[in-house]
Amino acid sequence: MLGFIGSYVHSDTEPAKISYVPCPDCKQLMNRSNFSRSSGVIIDRCKQHGVWFDAAELPKILEFVDNGGLARQREKEKIELEDERSRLREERRRLDMQARRSGGDHWDD
Ligand SMILES: [Zn+2]
Repeated sequence: MLGFIGSYVHSDTEPAKISYVPCPDCKQLMNRSNFSRSSGVIIDRCKQHGVWFDAAELPKILEFVDNGGLARQREKEKIELEDERSRLREERRRLDMQARRSGGDHWDD
């Protein structure tokens, strides 16, 4: 026969409270952000001293990196960069055509 003790639930299920931690270097409160945006790992970022994270978060970050998370993120950014580049190429072509149409070989700023 199986029995469950329903009332014995650890409080681990409570949502984690967000607490801002000061930078170890300059003691300023740091901004929280998502590591590589899609990893789900929260890191603390100091404007001057870069990124800090809890030792407990390191395995999660490594797991994310091992799973190719960074490569995926880079791939996404590459595509966004390509989009931006082709948009700029279009824009430049448009400006070239305009300049040619007006017959001038100089730019008015
Ligand atoms: Zn700092």
